[in-house]
Amino acid sequence: MTKWLDQLIPKHVQALTPYESARRLFSSSGSEKRIWMNANESPEADTFSLSSDLLNRYPDCQPKGLISAYAHYAGTDSQQVIATRGADEGIELIIRAFCPPNESSILVCPPTYGMYAISAQTFAVGVEVAPLLEDFSLNLSAIQDHVGKVNVVFLCSPNNPTGTALSKTQIKAVLEMYADKAIVVLDEAYIEFNQTTAQQNLLDKFDNLVILRTLSKGFALAGIRCGFILSSQAIKQVLLKVIAPYPISDPVAQIACQALSDHGIAKMRSRVDFLKQELTKMSSELENIPTVTLMGSQCGNFVLFKSEHNKELMQYLVSKNVLIRDQSKQLLLDRCLRISIGNKDENRQLLKLIQQFFNELKNESLPLNTSKNETVK
Ligand SMILES: *Cc1c(COP(=O)(O)O)cnc(C)c1O
Repeated sequence: MTKWLDQLIPKHVQALTPYESARRLFSSSGSEKRIWMNANESPEADTFSLSSDLLNRYPDCQPKGLISAYAHYAGTDSQQVIATRGADEGIELIIRAFCPPNESSILVCPPTYGMYAISAQTFAVGVEVAPLLEDFSLNLSAIQDHVGKVNVVFLCSPNNPTGTALSKTQIKAVLEMYADKAIVVLDEAYIEFNQTTAQQNLLDKFDNLVILRTLSKGFALAGIRCGFILSSQAIKQVLLKVIAPYPISDPVAQIACQALSDHGIAKMRSRVDFLKQELTKMSSELENIPTVTLMGSQCGNFVLFKSEHNKELMQYLVSKNVLIRDQSKQLLLDRCLRISIGNKDENRQLLKLIQQFFNELKNESLPLNTSKNETVK
């Protein structure tokens, strides 16, 4: 890089490395046919109809029909809803609105979704950590230690990649601890897979609560980039100061409204039911493999497991063009891999490969054992 350009780059940007999203690690544009089970996407796409009538016009910043459709679905007031370019933009808006660069921090509870920390670093905002406990519940006393020192706390439930849901008691404890002190973000990206733990009812009680939602997971629409923020009106007004003028393109709003119609919601629910059944099957089959340990629980559309052969298994699957996600670099997740549930066929193929891998491993170790015996002899 030329010297002048190097000198132009702020220190905090120089320190960044691009987020290794599932899509960046393995691009979907290649010619090879691959099975994608690494990004918690839906295995199938729905179909939608599009009108081009308004494509000559700038869209509304917050399309009314979309906002009321989501409020209706979520059981909240339209005044509490913001539409964003995916939950990832929601994370970014919150940090930009509430964390002054170079002098403030957020708090994250790893192992968790990586974008909270990445987003903060992008805006020269510090990242404090209060790791989850061994059972992946919140370490409340570690979280308490940061009261007064951070502007935003990020919680994720169901949590990616542990699949665990937080108890209402723990969530309320954090909201109370940080009352009048900081924003508490509850990321509910996977809430469609675990409806009973949805916490939008807490919005009326806690004015520091912000909930993140998305159409990327349960609604099978990762490709359109559409998410939502649920919050008090006061917080909403602040976030609307930093949002782009046209975050939701007209085709995105059209598709999202169809997905949020009664018919769209019914389709989502039956897809989610199916995926949950497949997830249960996959988890119990994995559990039957000796040396494989399930980790956390399965409240999302994915399963996390541990194997001492994680590296070799990952390589083996990549060589067979089946992609799952390595989580072994995360805190508490040494040797862990995550599988996103696919369609029936994909799940069957993946399981067969995993079983094959462990069988081959067993057979390979036989000659080793015999040679050991021979030396003894
Ligand atoms: C996938 C995911 C997101 C991002 O959702 P988008 O709407 O696609 O940006 C946010 N949070 C968690 C926990 C996720 O797993």
